[in-house]
Amino acid sequence: MSKQFAIIGMGRFGSSVARTLYEMDFEVMGIDENEERINENIQYVTHAVAADTTDERALREIGIRNFDVVVVAIGADIQASILTVLILKEMGVKKIVAKAQNERHGQVLYKVGADRVVFPERDMGVRVAHNLISANVLDF
Ligand code: ATP
Repeated sequence: MSKQFAIIGMGRFGSSVARTLYEMDFEVMGIDENEERINENIQYVTHAVAADTTDERALREIGIRNFDVVVVAIGADIQASILTVLILKEMGVKKIVAKAQNERHGQVLYKVGADRVVFPERDMGVRVAHNLISANVLDF
């Protein structure tokens, strides 16, 4: 059976991850506490749910444990991001990927149980730099 993904936080990053997986035919649940964000993304995910993921009961009702990978794409609200990862870990989620705003935030996310932390701006900067070099190699 193919992998099932849950994406928490439907901002620019989370919705891009969700949409890409959905376009690759994976089952994707999008979760955001903001109903507007849910409505904007409803056609790009398999299911969309409005919930505050710092509420353990809400996560239990969603059945978050059944997903193979949960991506925590909450950024600006660092407290909500850390608390969400902690709860997911305590609930026994198999694989947690989380987005960090900065180095310190990333360290805390690993400490509370994230399996992988991504830094979208930093990681994309590295990728663009590498692309520039390989483009140069091809050009000359
Ligand atoms: P991006 O940089 O990806 O565009 P953003 O700056 O729009 O993100 P963030 O603060 O990083 O916004 O949050 C991303 C999403 O996470 C928002 O849509 C926000 O509503 C949602 N979010 C924040 N806190 C919670 C929470 N406790 N439960 C569920 N969703 C949340």
